[in-house]
Amino acid sequence: MNHETMIPSDLQPILQKVESGERLSREDGILLYHHPDLPAVGALANIVRERKHGDRAYYVRNQHINYTNICNKFCKFCSFYAKKGGPDPYEMSLDEVRAAIRRYKHVPITEVHSVGGINPRLPYTYYLDLIRTIKEERPGVHVKAFTAVEIVEIARVGKTTIEGALRDLISAGLDALPGGGIEVLSDRVHEELFGRKLNGEEWKEVARIAARLGLTQYATMLYGHIETVEERVDHLIQLRELQDETGHFLCMTPLSFHPEKTDLEHIAPPTGNDDLRNIAVSRLMLDNFDHIKSFWIMNTPAVTQVALWYGADDCDGTVLEYEITYKEGEFGNKSQSLNPANMIAMIREAGRIPVERDSHYNEIVRDEPEPSPSERRLTAIPLAGA
Ligand code: SF4
Repeated sequence: MNHETMIPSDLQPILQKVESGERLSREDGILLYHHPDLPAVGALANIVRERKHGDRAYYVRNQHINYTNICNKFCKFCSFYAKKGGPDPYEMSLDEVRAAIRRYKHVPITEVHSVGGINPRLPYTYYLDLIRTIKEERPGVHVKAFTAVEIVEIARVGKTTIEGALRDLISAGLDALPGGGIEVLSDRVHEELFGRKLNGEEWKEVARIAARLGLTQYATMLYGHIETVEERVDHLIQLRELQDETGHFLCMTPLSFHPEKTDLEHIAPPTGNDDLRNIAVSRLMLDNFDHIKSFWIMNTPAVTQVALWYGADDCDGTVLEYEITYKEGEFGNKSQSLNPANMIAMIREAGRIPVERDSHYNEIVRDEPEPSPSERRLTAIPLAGA
């Protein structure tokens, strides 16, 4: 592709920086967000994406466990926590966690992702036993669990420090922190939408301590609510600086806000255009992150297919029983999954090469038959076997 001719003149200085591997500035990020030529922004991101990963597009076989939706933080953007007119409260016992893991014992997942609300009734031992239970049922699985907000709560109920709580969780089997919990690193947005949760500096401190202890980490950005373009760019720059400092972030996921059943229901949800732009700008600004993920549950499989040409190299996973985002009726119920054949079809239809990965992005090669044409049909299937 001749980038010189397809990139408009006002983006040529950014093209030169991208081609020479030079870091983009705050002003570059703001221009990329405002520029009307989205395909050109995507083409710039695709240069970085293909330099790092060629045609490969990664996915993981994973299971989600959302252990409780009882929460005392009342974030205005959240549809997950139990409230009047919203979801009924639940709290999984350890036996229920064990049963949920056993339910998919026949599925060769490699990762369990577990987060929940801030439920002050849960004792310290619950969190340690949650990890132990998952590891007992699934020896060798990678356990990615607890946002920084949960880590602060776990330390509080355990009457210990953040470091003390993390050390205990690591001893119980914790492998990684999934990121999340800060949404956008902006004091204004924090105060307006999630003032009861930890602030940006506290979130970074948890990340620094976790990095010192050797925990792999992930990062996110929730966009499409009340944040400004400048706040998004500042968020990305702060993540980039934290990665320069710690080097422990493996992947960043821009998360598309879903206003349904939240206190921000009056806000129009992000469009596919917004989703693609956030992925592209994240890819371009985060030069020290190896991977950018398009989380198909929030972006839809169709946008994820396009996103694989706009900077994304990872589609997340087959995902069993995801509860966080309200999606009434879209897939028949709130539980969503793609089986591996669907995932492979989604990536191949997009013109990329599907690569199953483990949680550290090592390729997993399986001796499995090619899926039949009906299995390859690109359909999100509730509770599909994987
Ligand atoms: Fe609670 Fe997390 Fe929802 Fe905030 S985003 S209300 S902390 S579950």
